[in-house]
Order: sequence, then structure tokens, then C-alpha cells
Amino acid sequence: MPLSSSACLACLRGIPKRGRPRCPECSHVFRGAGWDGVDAHWRARHTEVMAYEMFWGSLCDAHRAADPLDCLACRKGIPVSQTRQCPECALVLKGKGWAGIEAHWKANHADLLTYEDFWASLCPAHRGDDDPTGLLPFDARPPRARRRG
Ligand SMILES: [Zn+2]
Ligand SMILES: [Zn+2]
Ligand SMILES: [Zn+2]
Ligand SMILES: [Zn+2]
Repeated sequence: MPLSSSACLACLRGIPKRGRPRCPECSHVFRGAGWDGVDAHWRARHTEVMAYEMFWGSLCDAHRAADPLDCLACRKGIPVSQTRQCPECALVLKGKGWAGIEAHWKANHADLLTYEDFWASLCPAHRGDDDPTGLLPFDARPPRARRRG
């Protein structure tokens, strides 16, 4: 596929438009806020491919507007259910609702995303009701009522 100077490099490389920004050249994941650090990264590694200004200028709006506050659970494909899972490492929380997530997050993933940002990113479906005594979904059943197929 010929590179055109007006085409978005991230689109050409098939980089997902949602989620943490990735370097289209080497798939390096930027872990700061949005594209923080991309200029230094690009200038250090990829100026042979194209100048940083050209790369940055090529990005389409969807790729440039990296939104670090997309729901992390949606991004990771965590199902919306009564069971809460850490979106980052898939740890199933044993407490009620999100009990324990704060300590877990801060101990394991704070370098990735601050707990506050992570929590703020959750969509209402994933965040659910903060009150564990809140209404259960219509089809919620106690675990023991599970039947074999
Ligand atoms: Zn794009
Ligand atoms: Zn790179
Ligand atoms: Zn979500
Ligand atoms: Zn985790």
C-alpha cells in the first residue's frame, strides 16, 4: 500500500481508534495522558520513516483525539455482569461489587492509569450501582441456582 502524505498513518497500520494510543510504527503503548511522550518517542526512533511533524499531521481526528477516559472495561471486553473484574488483569473481585478495587488498582496498576482516572473512565453499565444492595438486573440469580446446560 503506497503511503500518501495525507493518509493517517495509524489507520494505515490498523491501530484501533479507541483505547490507549499506540505508536503506529512499533506498537509502543503510550501510558501517560493521551499521546504524552509521542514526540520524544518518535524523534528517538522513527524519524527515518517520516518526520514527526509529518506523522503527527497525518493522524486523523479519531486517532489524534486519544481519549484516555474511554471505559477501560468496555475496551477490554469485560462483560457487564454482577461479577466485577479488574479490566486490566481480569482479576475477579471477591467482595461485593467493586469492593477492593481501589486497593488492588493502586497496588498493581497505578503506573498505568491513576485509580481516579480509571474509576472516572468506567461507563455507567460497568460501574453499576455503587450500592451493593441496589436493584439486581432482571435475570440475576444466586450462583447456586445455576443449572447445567
Ligand atoms: Zn486514523
Ligand atoms: Zn514507535
Ligand atoms: Zn464499560
Ligand atoms: Zn488488576
